[in-house]
Amino acid sequence: MSTDWPALRAAATAAADRAYAPYSGLRVGAAGLTDDGRIIVGANVENASFGLTLCAECGLVSALHGAGPADPSVQAGATELVAVAVVAGDGDPLLPCGRCRQLLLEAGGGSLLVDTADGPVELKVLLPAAFTTTDLAERRDQETSHDQETTREQETTREQETTRERETTRERGAQ
Ligand SMILES: [Zn+2]
Repeated sequence: MSTDWPALRAAATAAADRAYAPYSGLRVGAAGLTDDGRIIVGANVENASFGLTLCAECGLVSALHGAGPADPSVQAGATELVAVAVVAGDGDPLLPCGRCRQLLLEAGGGSLLVDTADGPVELKVLLPAAFTTTDLAERRDQETSHDQETTREQETTREQETTRERETTRERGAQ
């Protein structure tokens, strides 16, 4: 599937027009092409608390999952982005921030094409040595040691409860 980059950039620019950016004044729109041929968009949403501000790419990825696949027989979450354009209100490309590169990685993989002022670039070039789901699967604690810990915690709680019950009974007996 070839990407119509001018169309994708136009969709991102239209989304930027709808952005809510009263504090920074930097309106951002993002448009992604899915592997089933749809264009999905997002716009940045700022907040008076600043820390709660959402990038346009966050909205795009949320819209991707919210919309689900075009074909209902396709498993939810299986649809991936193949190309993304992010622009400012002036319609020219903006590179995704670090957090959004990580977010886009899980929505399109390292071969996801990202529009830049110098043309499309693969996401793995913009986010080398990324943290991925493989790291999560391989580096988490072994289930057995976690289970043992949980059992130990439960036993301790049960012992404390039993002691408390015994004390309460003793107090009642003394009255
Ligand atoms: Zn971002």
